[in-house]
Order: sequence, then structure tokens, then C-alpha cells
Amino acid sequence: MSAEPLIVERATREWQDLDTRHYLHPFTDYKSLAAEGARVITRAEGVYLFDSEGQRILDGMAGLWCVNVGYGRRELAEAAFAQMQELPYYNSFFKSAHPPAIELARMLAELTPPQFQRVFFSGGGSEANDTIVRMVRRYWDVLGQPERRVIISRENAYHGSTMAGASLGGMAAMHAQGGLPIPDIVHIEQPYWFANGVDVSPEEYGIRAARRLVEKIEAIGPERVAAFIGEPIQGAGGVIIPPDTYWPEIQRICREYDILLIADEVVCGFGRTGRWFGSQHFGFEPDFMTLAKAITSGYQPLGAVMVADRVADVLVEKGGEFHHGYTYSGHPVACAVAIANLTILAGEQLVDRVREDIGPYLQKRWRELGEHPLVGEVRGVGLIGALELVAHKPSRTFFRNRGEAGLRCRDHCFANGLVMRAVRDTMIIAPPLVLTREQADELVGKAWKCLDLTARDLGIRVG
Ligand SMILES: *Cc1c(COP(=O)(O)O)cnc(C)c1O
Repeated sequence: MSAEPLIVERATREWQDLDTRHYLHPFTDYKSLAAEGARVITRAEGVYLFDSEGQRILDGMAGLWCVNVGYGRRELAEAAFAQMQELPYYNSFFKSAHPPAIELARMLAELTPPQFQRVFFSGGGSEANDTIVRMVRRYWDVLGQPERRVIISRENAYHGSTMAGASLGGMAAMHAQGGLPIPDIVHIEQPYWFANGVDVSPEEYGIRAARRLVEKIEAIGPERVAAFIGEPIQGAGGVIIPPDTYWPEIQRICREYDILLIADEVVCGFGRTGRWFGSQHFGFEPDFMTLAKAITSGYQPLGAVMVADRVADVLVEKGGEFHHGYTYSGHPVACAVAIANLTILAGEQLVDRVREDIGPYLQKRWRELGEHPLVGEVRGVGLIGALELVAHKPSRTFFRNRGEAGLRCRDHCFANGLVMRAVRDTMIIAPPLVLTREQADELVGKAWKCLDLTARDLGIRVG
């Protein structure tokens, strides 16, 4: 160990100046960040972040939906340290392999639903979805149906930021930059009952939203459609939880038209809903699963594509060489950390705990926020939730200036020691799975206070 620390201590102002001068952040308006200065997070423990001013902040988003086992887990640090000494890097190209990647592949085959026995590793969720686009098209090529190229996704989906990931995603603001989507990726309505379906029951609306898929398939021509992709619960799109009728109907349609079904489990995977995977919560069986984020609880960058036997058998038996791969596919340190992380998730029964204990407790408390005059709908399952902020509660009317209330609320939360994210005027949470009941109370208490402060800003009476 060197005597000098690698990263010296600096005053907040100094960090902010250097940050502005040299660091281009993701999803950031550079000019407005420079005017405000970044919040500099210096350390974290359990469910709490600490910033350079020493403020303690309850991380209601588990980083970016990923730190499921909480911050400061020694087991993960030790797994990385040990693996770096043993074998810090080697690849799996050219008929090579190494124990961490093989062992993690075995564990994932065991943890995931029975149709999955094989996995392809990437550096994160975006790259995993790029891999899926290529595998899906390769699969149909090998089967002699090369005209099956179109992948159907949904509005406001988030599938990453690479060219294919952003194209699969349904974010209009992303498509508007850089000439997206790439060809043969199209989008249908998202199953967003509160925005699109309040004229009918959620169950009826779920079927209606799923039937948009039939309309799209028929419009394109069924012989051209390769796959459908969806997050079991749309995360970055605003925690859109589809009615229970939605996914079974989507699966029925995919089977009827022989279309591959892809579940992007990057947010829902590894316990978020109280099941290991969101597709298990909603009761459907995908042909691919995209995994990332909580696969390592964010301690190392890693993504994975679970490939069902139906597809993998074709690629293995008849596919020849698959011309695709990343330098860091199956990175040994990331895989070792993933193994340690999955060992904690299983050993501490954190997924069961979400389903049977802390999930129901948080949801009960979270629903109390529905009493607030600013809140038009509360939804959630397990340890994921959303609040719809509305201008007029009885008529469920959205604010005319969409997004302003959300941003104000988010800023109040940060200033009051809580990370809650805003998507337009939807406030969302996805805290670490190790959240205690006391911390759930703290989260809900702070959220209520910040809703009050937001209502005051907007001139809405809170009684
Ligand atoms: C975050 C996310 C991705 C992209 O993962 P990266 O690791 O950021 O590339 C893909 N899909 C979903 C559902 C996500 O939430």
C-alpha cells in the first residue's frame, strides 16, 4: 500500500470546480449543472449516503436501482480483492475460460427459471440488450427466416444508452438526439393505467394495452416480427406497474405469433418485487432475460443475457461462430463480486424478506402518502414504488407544466436527506433490500414533509 492516498481530500467547492471543468456527466444539462455545482457523494454505509458536506441521505433509489445488499459490504470488497490477486483479468475469447465466469454461469442457471441454462456476459444492461438484438436476429437467420427482424418495444421503455439500447427504449428525448431509433425497432403503448386507462378497470385496461401488440404485429406483417421486449415493471419510465392481466396476455400473443419474448429484468431482477425475477412475479416465461445492476449490487459493472434453451440450442447446434463479444465479457473480478453478492442475497434470504416482511410493511406505509392532497395515485410492489403528483386530486388532472412539481419535490428530498427520483411528476423509490422498518418509517416521513414543501411552492393547500 502506498503511503499517500490516491484521492486527496478537497473542499466541496474545489470538487465542484474540477468537476465542471473536466467531467461530462451522463444524462446531464452541462450548463445548468455548472451553475449549481454537483452534489459530491463521498461515502456510504447500509442505506445511507454521505456527501462532502457531511450530510447523511437515505438512499431511496439504491444508487440507480442496483445496491440491493446495501453499501459497505465487506464480503464484496474481499471477493474483489482476492480475485484481483488470483487473476485480475482474462478473457473468454479463443476457447478460454476462468473459474469465476464458469461458477457464476452455473449459479445463474440455477437461480433463474428452468428454461434458462446458458448465459452471455456483458459490461452492463445496455450492452446486454445489444447482444440480445444480435442474438434474436441471428436466431431467425439460422432458422431460415431472415425477414424476421423487427423488435417491438414500448413507449417510455428504458433499455439502456447504446445505439441499440436507446433504440429499444421508448424515450422520445433520447430518440431525438443522434438519429434513433435504428431501423426495425418500433414501439407500442405502455401499460400505464393512470395516464391511459382510467376510463376502465385496471384489469380491462391491461388486456387493452396488451392487444396493442396484436395491432402492431398485424400492421407490420407477422412474418417480419422477431421479438417483443419489455421491463416487467418499467423503471426509468416512472415505475409503471402493469395490471395483472397484461403479461399473461402478452405471452399468449407472442406464442400465438411465434415471437420471442424478452424480459429486461435489469431493475426487477434479484429481488426487487419479492421474487428473484419480475417475470416470476407476473407469471410469464420469457425466452431472454436481460440482467445487470443488482447482479453485483452495483459494486462492479456487469451485465448478462439469459438465453432460453429454445434459442440457445439453435445457436449452439446450427449457428456456427457468433461474431460478437466484449473485452470484459465475464470479467473475473465482476463475476467474483456477483458470486459474493448472490451468496448474500440467498444466504440472508433478502428476497423472501422483501416478499414477506419489509415489502408489505413499506407498501402499507407508502400507501398512506395517498392521503396527501398532491398525490393522485400510489402504486408499488415489494421494494419499488411510485407517487403520481397531480394538480387536481379529485379529477386526477396532471400539472399543465409537466415535470416542474417532480423536480421541486426531488430537490426538497435531497435537501432533507432523502433520495427520491422524479420522472416527470412521478416520484419513485427503489431502496436497498436491507431497509429496516425504522428506515421505511423515516423514508415515508421525509417523503410526506417534502410533499408538503412542494405543495407550498405550487400554492396548493395542504390543510
Ligand atoms: C439501467 C437499465 C439498463 C441499462 O443498463 P446499463 O448498465 O446502464 O447499461 C437497461 N435496462 C433497464 C431496465 C435499466 O433500468
